[in-house]
Amino acid sequence: VSAEPADLLVVHAGELATLAGPAPRTGPALRDVGALPDGAVAIRGEHIAAVGPTRELERRFRAARTIDASGRLVTPGLIDAHTHPVFVSLRAAEFEMRLQGRTYQEIAAAGGGIRSTVAGVRAADDDALARAVEARLRRFLAEGTTTIEAKSGYGLTLADELRSLRAIREAARRVPVGVAPTLLGAHDVPPEFREDREGYVRLVAEEMVPAAAREGLAEFCDAFVERGFFTVEDGRALFRAARAHGLRPRLHADEFSDCGGAALAAEVGAISADHLLHVSDAGIEALRRAGVVPVLLPGTHFSLGLPSGAPARRMIEAGLPVALATDCNPGTSLTESLPMVMTLACVLLRMTPAEALAAVTVNAAAALARAHDRGRLEPGLRADLVVWDVPDHRALPYYYGVGHAETVVAGGRPVWEKKTHA
Ligand SMILES: [Zn+2]
Repeated sequence: VSAEPADLLVVHAGELATLAGPAPRTGPALRDVGALPDGAVAIRGEHIAAVGPTRELERRFRAARTIDASGRLVTPGLIDAHTHPVFVSLRAAEFEMRLQGRTYQEIAAAGGGIRSTVAGVRAADDDALARAVEARLRRFLAEGTTTIEAKSGYGLTLADELRSLRAIREAARRVPVGVAPTLLGAHDVPPEFREDREGYVRLVAEEMVPAAAREGLAEFCDAFVERGFFTVEDGRALFRAARAHGLRPRLHADEFSDCGGAALAAEVGAISADHLLHVSDAGIEALRRAGVVPVLLPGTHFSLGLPSGAPARRMIEAGLPVALATDCNPGTSLTESLPMVMTLACVLLRMTPAEALAAVTVNAAAALARAHDRGRLEPGLRADLVVWDVPDHRALPYYYGVGHAETVVAGGRPVWEKKTHA
């Protein structure tokens, strides 16, 4: 009997959470992680060859390497559907000022706020930008994340937004994390356009979008549609330009107020609407009908100490395919850890551990138009998986604030392993 060759076999998983089946998951299906007892995964090349009981796969395959996952949780590689990784300096002084009750205006007057991050990015050379993103990608990997969405948005000039997107592309060549790049030229109105917001919107729509598309630097176009930032009309104009150049819309919506962001997301056929702390019932219904994935970012309201988060339970009850993300950024949520975000989603948004896991795997893949090739453990999909040092999916958000990823496999290769020290 000749066994089939495999490059890697992961066997005897304490819980193999496959998330297999229809994607994305909604309603009661969100509570089912598709667990296989004593499960195994066979990998050939960059893809999953088979998933099944260990006994069966050990008989069927002859593997070059075997990982014993006894007593451990195995999941698909996590997917972070909302990050802002292109920045060079931190804002810890601002964090401290905020804790002491200083207002946003006082912080801005002291040189803090998004403007300080923008100044840092504009002053950094290309190599420094790429190295900053590269370091962040390695931390995502160490937390079990194998795919991220990555936004520009701290350059806010044509040249600096393109440099930011090129830094994302260069970092993705150096680190085995899948990257879905997004142009976020409409993150904020830069100081030099303070009196001419419409002029800045034209710059983004007529210059940044075509240039990013021409160079193949972005898949998505995002905008911060919020009172004091960009209006629904601005968003409509930007997304029309984005569509014309093949960039799919996604947006920051209804974070600080219900200003029609969810309705706009539905109207322009956005792939995701993110934040949604103040989304209305009509907004939820519009998202459902248009098939928009809501991406919730509980790290943000946690970091800012806001009283309540997005209405996750209402969205799940309405049948929405809820996803979760870190919003990794230096102002409002500085973390690369999706397991930490799962904890916040469970405790603050009342999601169950199973719902939180689906939200950072299969549903996050849908938020990035990648549900066809990742986010589940199924034959034919990309071999991205994580062996965790906890016994099951409930323990991952329960045991919080420490790194649980033991082995991270991306594209079929073990690319990160936790070091043990005597
Ligand atoms: Zn964001």
